[in-house]
Amino acid sequence: MLSDRFGRSIEYLRISVTDRCDLRCTYCLPKGFKGFEEPQDWLTFDEITRLVAAFARLGTSRIRLTGGEPLLRRNLPELAGRIAALPGIRDLSLSTNATRLDRYAPALKAAGVSRINVSLDSLDREQMKSITGHDSLPKIMAGLMAGKAAGFAPIKINMVAMRGVNDAAIDDMVAFCIEQDFVLRLIETMPMGATGRDTGFLDLGPIQERLQQKFNLQAQALELGGGPARYLTTADGSASIGFITPMSQHFCATCNRVRLAVDGTLYLCLGQEEKFEFRPLLRDGASDAELEAAIRLAIELKPQKHEFREQPTKVVRFMSQTGG
Ligand code: SF4
Repeated sequence: MLSDRFGRSIEYLRISVTDRCDLRCTYCLPKGFKGFEEPQDWLTFDEITRLVAAFARLGTSRIRLTGGEPLLRRNLPELAGRIAALPGIRDLSLSTNATRLDRYAPALKAAGVSRINVSLDSLDREQMKSITGHDSLPKIMAGLMAGKAAGFAPIKINMVAMRGVNDAAIDDMVAFCIEQDFVLRLIETMPMGATGRDTGFLDLGPIQERLQQKFNLQAQALELGGGPARYLTTADGSASIGFITPMSQHFCATCNRVRLAVDGTLYLCLGQEEKFEFRPLLRDGASDAELEAAIRLAIELKPQKHEFREQPTKVVRFMSQTGG
């Protein structure tokens, strides 16, 4: 099993298939951003599939397709199908803002994507307009319902909790997710780029305590996809809420993931700059054995943890460049 210097098994690879997005969320891509990767530098579907196959031979079994907004990448269901068919891949999921999910949900499900995470920071249309920079809520809701109809399970809602922005919207979102049978995850902001740093940080510790009281939630050691969330569940087990707390209570000791950017750069940690370039190897015709050796070499670079608190200005990348 692929593991790093700290004995952590790297079972999970997140793949950013594009750094572009149709939204401009205030904590992520700044308005007017132009520094996107050029298409000729994007890994092709053949290159992505070859690299994932090498990771799978080394024991990585969970793949998440992310962006930017992954549904902006043409023919994504084709890539999903090729990855789902690889030996050793047992879990294929997608993170999306759902603005185009109504078009692609059935094809993605048929291709082998089993579960999805949808970014949704408020149920208020005006508030979503100011957070995402677009009148996005109607399209997102249409995408969510299409995802539900297509049979993705679970459907998780990722809500970035921002002090003074949407903190008052959390309880409505909890009620909405319980009603719709979605799994809500509240996420603390991280100092990823200037936008991440400029967003009001909201410590989720007190929020968790309040929701635990209000909705009578109990701590549950739930296995819901190998991610960093800590889940609380209603007494009857019918609903769960996850808390992703990289700032107030980080989870680096059990980190199991690395991130592949659209240009073939493998980032070993979301909160650090250590990286490994795979595109030159892939384009110079590296053999399967050489790719596997390079992956092992890359994983040796994986840092122990982030330093978001100690060095909040360290990471200049925006979240969309590696996909959360
Ligand atoms: S910050 Fe880095 S080490 Fe910590 S959980 Fe995220 S990727 Fe893993």
